[in-house]
Amino acid sequence: AKNEGKGNFRFFTEEMNARMTERLVMETELRNAIDQEEFQLFYQPQIDVLSGNIAGVEALIRWNHPKRGLLTPDSFIEVAEDCGLITAIGDWVLQEAISISAQWQKRFGTPLMMSVNLSPKQFNDDTLVAKLRRLLHAVGLAPSTLMLEITENDLIADHQSTHLILNALKTLGVKIAIDDFGTGYSSLAYLRTLPVDTLKIDKEFFVRSRSDDTDSHIISAIIDLAHALKLEVIAEGIETYTQMELLKMKKCDIAQGFLIGKPMAFDTLQRWYDSKISV
Ligand code: C2E
Ligand code: CA
Ligand code: CA
Ligand code: CA
Repeated sequence: AKNEGKGNFRFFTEEMNARMTERLVMETELRNAIDQEEFQLFYQPQIDVLSGNIAGVEALIRWNHPKRGLLTPDSFIEVAEDCGLITAIGDWVLQEAISISAQWQKRFGTPLMMSVNLSPKQFNDDTLVAKLRRLLHAVGLAPSTLMLEITENDLIADHQSTHLILNALKTLGVKIAIDDFGTGYSSLAYLRTLPVDTLKIDKEFFVRSRSDDTDSHIISAIIDLAHALKLEVIAEGIETYTQMELLKMKKCDIAQGFLIGKPMAFDTLQRWYDSKISV
């Protein structure tokens, strides 16, 4: 057993070495990615369930990796968080999303509700509110057209500062959404004390609901609960007409998912919108 242990240990360290090297390579590449303009935002449309009109978009980051092609965030956001690069990347995301939102408003003459994902490090950044104020002011955008998405778990991580930060953001006038709701452990009593505007039901409920009927009961209950708390509800991960019917029946406010539109480049989004308003 002892010999085996020794062998395992060597194997283990070799594997660890390979993984660490891979991580270090990615870290170095990530450091250059902003300067090299390798990041890009995709925008996924959200529609008003009742009218079918566009209600806004969620900005989702992509990395045009020189060797590996277009990467989705699951492959690099965690590394960016661990090595502290997420704040710089997040700043780029905010600046880009706000500038695109202003472009949209100019072109179509109507504001676009722009949702941006915030990582916990950004949320706890002391300069966040000042940054947002400056970015919005620079392009003349109303703060109420920007929605920041923070996951349920990140919100409950630190009760004290969560309230302070949320209140400061509220005073600035931006909207706050609880992302991935239903996967964490927040209590109803606690949620009520937070100055949030919107609740996003985690897409896992919908991805599963095609095979499991109990999930449609959970979805119904969450919508009722959110409305009782005067929160707007966004359902994400909508892929089927059956799910859309459930949302209509339950008077869910907004829907987002592949059925409505996949995340797309800004050019494509504008064409998508043009074709929608011309019918
Ligand atoms: P999220 O915030 O929960 O974003 C929704 C994810 O679900 C997106 O994946 C989107 O492409 C995907 N999705 C949308 N509709 C459907 C559907 O109908 N079916 C299925 N199966 N999936 C759908 P994506 O773009 O790969 O992003 C993954 C996660 O990365 C996001 O999850 C978010 O947590 C994070 N992320 C994305 N952009 C940013 C960013 O700019 N900053 C930070 N900190 N995190 C980001
Ligand atoms: Ca999100
Ligand atoms: Ca989500
Ligand atoms: Ca997520």
